[in-house]
Amino acid sequence: MTSKHALPSYLNPEDLGPWGVYLEQIDRVTPYLGNLSRWVETLKRPKRILTVDVPIERDDGTIAHYEGYRVQHNLSRGPGKGGVRFHQDVTLSEVMALSAWMTVKNAAVNVPYGGAKGGIRVDPKTLSRNELQRLTRRYTSEISMIIGPNKDIPAPDVNTNEQVMAWMMDSYAMIGGNMSTGVVTGKPISLGGSLGRRDATGRGVFVVGCDAAAKVGMSLEGAKVIVQGFGNVGGVAARMFAEAGSKVVAVQDHKTTVVHSGGLNIPQLLAHVAEVGSVEGFSGAEAFVPREDFWGIDCDILIPAALEQQITAERAQVIRAKIILEGANGPTLPAADDILTDRGVLIVPDVLANAGGVTVSYFEWAQNFSSFFWTEEEINSRLTRIMREAFDAVWQVSQEKKVSMRTATFILACTRVLQAREVRGLYP
Ligand code: NAD
Repeated sequence: MTSKHALPSYLNPEDLGPWGVYLEQIDRVTPYLGNLSRWVETLKRPKRILTVDVPIERDDGTIAHYEGYRVQHNLSRGPGKGGVRFHQDVTLSEVMALSAWMTVKNAAVNVPYGGAKGGIRVDPKTLSRNELQRLTRRYTSEISMIIGPNKDIPAPDVNTNEQVMAWMMDSYAMIGGNMSTGVVTGKPISLGGSLGRRDATGRGVFVVGCDAAAKVGMSLEGAKVIVQGFGNVGGVAARMFAEAGSKVVAVQDHKTTVVHSGGLNIPQLLAHVAEVGSVEGFSGAEAFVPREDFWGIDCDILIPAALEQQITAERAQVIRAKIILEGANGPTLPAADDILTDRGVLIVPDVLANAGGVTVSYFEWAQNFSSFFWTEEEINSRLTRIMREAFDAVWQVSQEKKVSMRTATFILACTRVLQAREVRGLYP
């Protein structure tokens, strides 16, 4: 993607990757920002980018080096907040975009955070548990000067989990000599984690899915759902839709696509994945279909919950869903967004649909500060309330301004971020 933007020198203007997608989204919202648009450049430049070398000793005695990042996109509304991803395809452009989407997401659900994200360019499946621990600890040490409970609070993302968060928290405590559980969220319950955090993102996807279905007059009972990505987000969302009476007719993961026209047995599929690490070989499947066929499967609701840039213009042409709930970050390319929106598909964008995770992360952080813990019912009901209020506010803006839910979310969120920026003023 060639860019018309003033770009930082470390990006290739010919191939901006996910950051280019984000810039285009900002361009689309700028005309709606009124006087605040004079501050819009602030959203096009990450506040702080840290690139680190992460060396570890492999189990065989050799030394391996990995590239790590922590990007703080915007801290106008509060400390940075966003996950850490371990994946072989992580790039700076991707981490920048993910950090920016966190800025928008946190403002959309009105939690008091800026946006940040981190990542290491590594395939964690090639590492032993001990190597993974050394990698996590060294990475934490390398970024320790910019993270902290009041500075920037990492959380899990693709291929990172409660155990990785526990190692990060411990490393931070050892480096600083103080015990601050609130430095990361998504921790194990035994270490100050919050009840409900594991399911929070998938639950949030389900909550906005219920509201979206109501808006288009669709009943969830018997609705056909297809899900790409069957991890923390996709697995939980699939389970909740199945529990609500929907039929999850296809699931795709990194290995294969499994289908059943009568609805897959989701508890059995979850158990299978927990055992073998993929939906591959699931005995309850009607068929396994070629990867590309997934997009054209007859369905009412599509949930992309794997990686970004999955819904291309070509795939948009064959998608049959009436509602798309973006569990993943950045799954839809702008050209595809236009094709689907023109066709009247209701897209609940990532920055709204998957905000359940960061919302319960916020609850976890607040509980850590007060050392007082809430019940799971309290957490789930507060999460549902916040997601529904955010959905309503975005829906209203989209109706008033006659724009897509994505543009409406960006209008609401960017206005909040830039108002904070303006009232704080520039230092010095
Ligand atoms: P995860 O690692 O638990 O699961 C990822 C799933 O995607 C796995 O089932 C994997 O097999 C599948 N996958 C990977 N590559 C694929 C490919 N090329 N094609 C099809 N499937 C593929 O990750 P997760 O935590 O569920 O995150 C999924 C997405 O949701 C990411 O975009 C992440 O940034 C976003 N997200 C996660 C959270 C959270 O709380 N976990 C919160 C907000 C957004």
